[in-house]
Amino acid sequence: MSGSILITGASQVLTLRGGPRRGNSLSNLGIVKDGAVLVRDGKIVAVGPRAQVDRRAEAKSAEKFDVGGRVVLPGFVDSHTHLIHAASRAEEYELKIQGASYEEIARKGGGVLNSVKKLRAATEQALKQRAASALGEFAAHGTTTLEAKSGYGLDVASELKILTLHKELNTEQPLEIVSTFLGAHVVPAEFRGKADGAEKYLDLLMEKLLPEVVVRDLAEYCDVFCDRGAFTVRQSRKLLAKAKDHGLAPRLHAEQLSRTGATQLAVDLGAASCDHLEHVNDSDIRSLAKSKTVATLLPGCDFHLGLKEYAPARKLIEAGAIVALATDYNPGTSPTMSMPMVLSLACDQLRMTPAEAIAAATINGAAALGREKTIGSLAEGKQADLAAFEVEDYREIPYYFGMNLCWMTMKRGEIVCMKD
Ligand SMILES: [Zn+2]
Repeated sequence: MSGSILITGASQVLTLRGGPRRGNSLSNLGIVKDGAVLVRDGKIVAVGPRAQVDRRAEAKSAEKFDVGGRVVLPGFVDSHTHLIHAASRAEEYELKIQGASYEEIARKGGGVLNSVKKLRAATEQALKQRAASALGEFAAHGTTTLEAKSGYGLDVASELKILTLHKELNTEQPLEIVSTFLGAHVVPAEFRGKADGAEKYLDLLMEKLLPEVVVRDLAEYCDVFCDRGAFTVRQSRKLLAKAKDHGLAPRLHAEQLSRTGATQLAVDLGAASCDHLEHVNDSDIRSLAKSKTVATLLPGCDFHLGLKEYAPARKLIEAGAIVALATDYNPGTSPTMSMPMVLSLACDQLRMTPAEAIAAATINGAAALGREKTIGSLAEGKQADLAAFEVEDYREIPYYFGMNLCWMTMKRGEIVCMKD
C-alpha cells in the first residue's frame, strides 16, 4: 500500500474552495461533478474532476475508495457547543411545552444552574463517557471539528475539570475539539442574592481561574453569556479584555434573549464570533458586515424552545456579514448533535438556500474558529476532513430532515465512521 487514498465515484464533490464567504459568494460551493480527492498523510494532495486527478502518478498506486455516487463535502465545523454536561433536562422540556418560559424555569433553580448542580456532583469518568458518546454522534452526522465550552462548573475546580476533559478528549478520540472557557455563563448560586455578587464572581474568574486556565493551556477562546439575567456589556468587556491580555481570543453569546449591545462589543474587541443574534438591530448588522467577526446562528435553539423569532439571516447575508451555523449542543435549549438538522432549520426557518447553509456550516464555521486555513474546504494542503452523504444532489442534505443520511466521515484521512 502506498499510503495514499484516492476517493472516487462522487456524484458531486463540494470543494468550498476559497476563503470565508460573504453575501453572494456564500452560495458558491465550488462543485465538481464526478470528482475525486487524493489523500496522503491525513492531508489533501489533489482534488478536482476524476479524469484530472487520475492522471497523477500517485493516483494510480493509491488505495481506491469508491463512494458509489454519493456527495462528498468538507466535514462540518460545529463552532458552538456546550459538550460537557452531566445530564439531559428533559423535565424542563416538558415544563416549557406546558407554558413556562426559559427565564421562569431559571428563576426556580432550573436552567443553567440545574446543569451546574449536576455537573459538580458528577465524576470525571461519567462526564467523559457521556461526552465521548456525544462525540460519536457528532461524527456519525458528518462533523469533524467542534468547539466546546465550559460553563456548567462555575467554580475553580469544576471549570478546570471540564476544560481538562476537553484537552483529554481532543487526543483520545478522532474529532478535533477547540476549547473555550465560559466561566461567565451565569452567576453561580453561591454568589447570588448580594448586590455585588456578579462582580465578586468576575473577580474570582479573573484572579483565580483565568491564570490557571492559561498556565495549564486549557483553552483557546474566552466566551461570555452577555444577556439579560447573565452578564452586562460592561462586565463582559472587563473579562474579555483581561482574557485577551492572557492570550485567549474573545467570542460572545449575543442578543439571544434581548438586545444588550453585545454585538457591538464583539466587533469592538475583534471577537472571533458573536453567536445567537435573534435580537440584533440594523446598526448591529452593519457593524458585523464591516468586521471579520463571524455571525454564528443557532436555529436549533429557537426550534427546541418553540420560539417564533429566529435570527435575521437574510439581512445578515445581504449586508455582507460572515454567517456561520452551529448546533449549540446543550442540555437546556438545543439537545442535538446533528448539523444536517441545523441545515434543514437554516433553510426552512432562516430562509437560507441549501448552498448558503452548507457554506455556513463548513468554511465559515472554520473561520469562526480561526481555522479557515486548515479545515472547512477541500483544497490541496488542507486536512482531509470530509463527509460523504447518501444523496446524489447536495440540496437533498437539508431537504431530508430529522434523519441521518451521512454515510461516511473522515478525519485527517482516517475513516471515523461508516454505515454498512
Ligand atoms: Zn451557547
